[in-house]
This record gives sequence, structure tokens and C-alpha cells, in this order.
Amino acid sequence: MVRHSSRIELSQSSLTNNINFIKKKVGEGVKISSVVKANAYGHGIREFVKMAEKAGVSHFATASAFEAEEVLEAKSESSDAMIMGILYDEDIDWAVENGIEFYVFNYERLPLVLESAQRLGKQAKVHIEVETGANRTGMTKSEFPATLSFLKKHSKEIAFKGLCTHFGGAENFSNQFKIDKQHERYKNFLKQCKQKNIEPEIRHIACSAAALAYKDTVYDMVRIGVAQYGFWPSPDIYYAHLQKTGKQSDSALKRIFTWKTDVMDVRDVEAGEFIGYGTSYQASQDMKVAVMPLGYSNGYPRAQSNSGHVLIKGKKVQIVGLINMNLFMVDVSNIPDVQVGDEVVLVGRQNNNTINISSFSQVTQLLNNEMLSRLPAAIPRRITK
Ligand SMILES: *Cc1c(COP(=O)(O)O)cnc(C)c1O
Repeated sequence: MVRHSSRIELSQSSLTNNINFIKKKVGEGVKISSVVKANAYGHGIREFVKMAEKAGVSHFATASAFEAEEVLEAKSESSDAMIMGILYDEDIDWAVENGIEFYVFNYERLPLVLESAQRLGKQAKVHIEVETGANRTGMTKSEFPATLSFLKKHSKEIAFKGLCTHFGGAENFSNQFKIDKQHERYKNFLKQCKQKNIEPEIRHIACSAAALAYKDTVYDMVRIGVAQYGFWPSPDIYYAHLQKTGKQSDSALKRIFTWKTDVMDVRDVEAGEFIGYGTSYQASQDMKVAVMPLGYSNGYPRAQSNSGHVLIKGKKVQIVGLINMNLFMVDVSNIPDVQVGDEVVLVGRQNNNTINISSFSQVTQLLNNEMLSRLPAAIPRRITK
């Protein structure tokens, strides 16, 4: 197989560190569901699932059946997969057959699940997602009593695996009013379960931010995305952690992701010449540039034109000209011994310098997610120590 124009390395020790940190935060008895939607936030679902299992995780959550299929291929027999989002009617059989847990957020889905379980002679595993105030998916109050009756009546065919909801914005303390309200509503649903004497095996509502900052939202399981990849969900959550621990700073969460390529060509450019497309960069003096073998079609954002940096020989060097579809150039005038084939770090650490994902967006952590999740699945991922 020929070589790809860039590669992603994933640090096993950093992931193990992150999982241990989260475990300690939420308490030993709480199950961690590793959220691996969006190709494991760009890290690569197949590689990441294996790494997470090594770190002691045995439950994986995806947004879609399509992603769960990838988890199924990567996970070991004893781990579980859970679909939190889209599962089409025609794929219910597939989920039941493969023992995959899935969210149900409409009463009408339940008879279909029952039919499927009966047809296959296999118990279906459902998590009932309830509407508490995010107003995306979630069962409403009015459907809930009938749902509980249905589950009670058909407990042989359908396992009531979980009762869950999702906070709309737990990473910002300015949303606390809304988060508290959501939690109160969730408790109300729980109470109804108790009254009807049909209770879920596990209760789970916390994402990374809630798990790290709102202890009372931690029930039997937490669904951890962004934090396991080594990112604080937001400055709010990071500073709350510092306040609680009395630390000045804390590198408890470690980035596990490094994105690398290598120098494709090196050339001299004379003063007055333009670099790449158009006239966006004109050399003001004689300079040396290195050519990178990737561009915006490979996940490197075009917005980095004339402004981003990469690391070569431990030095931070600037992008000159526009990011092209498959190429871009950097100014290496200060690295006289740069050569074709030299390793380039696009994101991550080289010697004493680091390029952070956040430098790609500067503003919020949500944009970190966006940048990561857009990295093409075709880039090879490799697990390192
Ligand atoms: C994405 C997602 C999570 C994980 O969120 P993080 O903030 O990345 O931890 C948890 N639950 C649901 C339903 C999600 O969609």
C-alpha cells in the first residue's frame, strides 16, 4: 500500500491517563461510556475503540447505527455498543440481532422493537431518552406513562437498559439555570419509574462537562466524549476544576492526538516573487520555502492561509500563501538545513514547541470538536505508546 500524505498518531498512555482521571472524578462504581461519534472526534473509531478497551473502557456510544457498525467490528466480545441517535426502522433487526443498545425517544418505536425481538427470538436493549429541555430528541411527559406500561408488559422481549437525557450546554455556567431545570425534570421521570415499579438498569445524563463539574448529575453511567480525548470541555469547567483543587494549573487531561506529515520539497524564492495561487503572498526578500503535501481537501483548514504555523526541526514556521487543495507552503528561511522528508508536526508537539488544535479556531472548544471531526477518515491512524 502506498503512503498517505499525512498521518495521525494516538498516544495510548495519554488516553489511559485521561480515563483514569475521569474515573477518579466520577468515582469507581460509575461506568464510563466512551462517546466515539464523528469517527471518535476525528481520532479514528477503530483504533480508538481498541485503545479505550486497553484503558479499561467497555461501553461505547455512537450517534448513528452506521458508526455502531464500525464499533462492532473493532470492539471485543465483552464490550457493549449504544446508539444515541439515528437508527432507521429497517435497521432495528440488525441492532437487536447484534445485541446493540439503542435510544428510543418515541412511543411508536416500541411496538416495532417488540416485533423485531419476537421475530429474532432475542431480547432488545433499549434506553428511553426523555425530553427535559434541550428539545432535540427525547420522549415527552405525555408519552411516558404508556411507555412504562409497555416496557413492564414486555420486559421479557425488551430490556429497559437505561433512562437518559442530554444537557443542552453543561459546559457553560451561564446555562446553569437551564441545566438545573433539565435535571429536575429528569428526576421527575425517575420518580414515575419508581411509582410504576419498572426501573431502568442504569441512569445516565452526564456528558464530559457535567461529569467533571456537576457531581449530582453523575448516576450509574457517564457519557464521556471530549474529555477522554484530552480536552477540557470549556474554560468554565477547567477553572472550576482549578478552584476545587486549589491548583494553579493542571495538565490532568492530556491530548492524545498528533498530526504529522513531511517536507515534500524545498525551494528558494527570490524577492518580489509570489508564492502559490494569486497574489496573496509576495516575498519581500529572498527566502526559502518548504512544500507540504496536503491541503484543505485533506482536512487542513483553508482559513490557515498566510497565518497558521507548523513545526519543523522543533521550530515554529509560518504558512505563506493560500492553503491549496493538496499543497501549502511554509517559510523555512530560518532553518538552513531543512531537507525533503523532514518530519512536520501539524498538530501536536515537537521538541519544545506545540501547535494546539485550539490555535485553529482560537475561540471555543466546540470549534475544537468541529476541526477534529472533519479530519478525513482516510488519514491513517497509528497507536503509539
Ligand atoms: C456527544 C454526546 C455526548 C458527549 O459529549 P461530550 O461533551 O463530548 O462529553 C454525550 N451524550 C450525548 C447524547 C451526546 O450526543
